[in-house]
Amino acid sequence: MLATNLSSSVSMATMACVHVDMVTNLVDEDITHVSWYFIITLTVVALFVGSRKVYTNIKKKMAHLEVIVIGAGPIGLTSALIAVQSKRVNKLILYEEVSRFEVENRGYQIAIQSANVSFLRSFGVDFDNLEGVWRDGCFYTRAGIYLEYIIQILPFYSTEVDLKFRTKFDRETCDVIDKIVGRKLVICCDGSAGMTSRHLSLSDEHIQHSTGIYGAMAAIERNKHTPVPTPEKRIHNLSFDLSAYGNLSYEEECRSNFTLKIFGNSKRRCLALAVRKGDSNVARSLKTVLDKSIMRNVFLKCFNTYKSSEEASISDSFCLNNMKFSPRLYEIKISQRIESVAYISDNDLFIITEGEASRSLNFNTGLDINIGLKGVTSLQPFIDMITVAEAEHSIMEALIFKMEHSDKICNDFIKFGLKEYMFL
Ligand SMILES: Cc1cc2nc3c(=O)[nH]c(=O)nc-3n(C[C@H](O)[C@H](O)[C@H](O)COP(=O)(O)OP(=O)(O)OC[C@H]3O[C@@H](n4cnc5c(N)ncnc54)[C@H](O)[C@@H]3O)c2cc1C
Repeated sequence: MLATNLSSSVSMATMACVHVDMVTNLVDEDITHVSWYFIITLTVVALFVGSRKVYTNIKKKMAHLEVIVIGAGPIGLTSALIAVQSKRVNKLILYEEVSRFEVENRGYQIAIQSANVSFLRSFGVDFDNLEGVWRDGCFYTRAGIYLEYIIQILPFYSTEVDLKFRTKFDRETCDVIDKIVGRKLVICCDGSAGMTSRHLSLSDEHIQHSTGIYGAMAAIERNKHTPVPTPEKRIHNLSFDLSAYGNLSYEEECRSNFTLKIFGNSKRRCLALAVRKGDSNVARSLKTVLDKSIMRNVFLKCFNTYKSSEEASISDSFCLNNMKFSPRLYEIKISQRIESVAYISDNDLFIITEGEASRSLNFNTGLDINIGLKGVTSLQPFIDMITVAEAEHSIMEALIFKMEHSDKICNDFIKFGLKEYMFL
């Protein structure tokens, strides 16, 4: 009996064990199933996310755009040089309304500041192979020399280049651009009188900022000279005695704070005279009295006194025939295009303005090309940003980045520009 009970309890225990095992197995199986489902789902999700990421990365890596530059001035060609070196750009088209010969023979002098020299070197400009002179880190050359050099090196990069000289960009060209498939960037570098951004539907509105400085310009053309690059010369704390001009007598003012700058090449000598707002009676008179002979004599005297010792003096009669000058002092202003960046979603087209098409001075400092060169320092990151930008917010981010950089250049120039370019 005891044995029977024992055996039945054993068998019950065994059954219980079997049951527990079965339940455990069932639970284990369920857990295993759940785990498998979980793992498989996770794997599928991970694979999906991973492949999407890989796909997006490949797509981003493969993304390209076409760049169209309008204008083969110093800023247009520098923009073209930056664009052809971007791995993002598969084709560059440049429109220039005048001939290549005309571009390469631009006779005026440009002076590239040392920061921009380093920037241009990083894009392969070999200053050792350019004819020009160095002074205090600045490189002085004829504009045509710089332009010719860039035109020559553009085809050496892997980007396809199509240079269209003697081809004006107009409304009809806009239709050609619209037909290009895929993303495009148009860089308008057609100078201060350029109209192309208007054709591309950017607003023509400009805002004028005062620099708080008054100035006057003169240019002396010496046609018999060859245009030899010549470093600039600055003379500070000048005063003028206007007592010879009737009642303009200011003997009490021994020192005014005029700054004179002589620059340009040996053929075309330029003089820039600048004085801070509200400086003196002499300045006030030169602003208000419109007597050309006063200004002519001021510039003639300035040139003959401060020219370099190797240069010949100029006579009164030479001055009459060969010097152009502002008849009085005027307020120096920088004009800034309000809309300098845009995106047209229908055509997948970005438009920006650079150089004097974006901002220009009503004065010549001899260093004006540097304002435009500063603008193109943000071109490469901008190209990178817009090539991969898909969502609205990334497109906006790129536009804001460029717009803020453009504003910064203008604000910096108002605060420090003339100080750096003239008064230091
Ligand atoms: C006579 C002169 C003397 C200067 N002297 C000095 C100096 O001593 N120092 C200094 O730093 N700077 C000087 N500058 C200014 C300096 O050259 C400018 O800062 C510089 O030229 C600005 O370059 P940019 O490329 O913005 O425009 P720009 O040089 O004006 O180039 C614009 C280009 O666009 C082209 N273009 C215009 N419209 C169209 C169109 N619809 N289709 C196709 N092409 C078009 C024009 O033909 C031109 O080639 C001088 C400029 C001039 C004109």
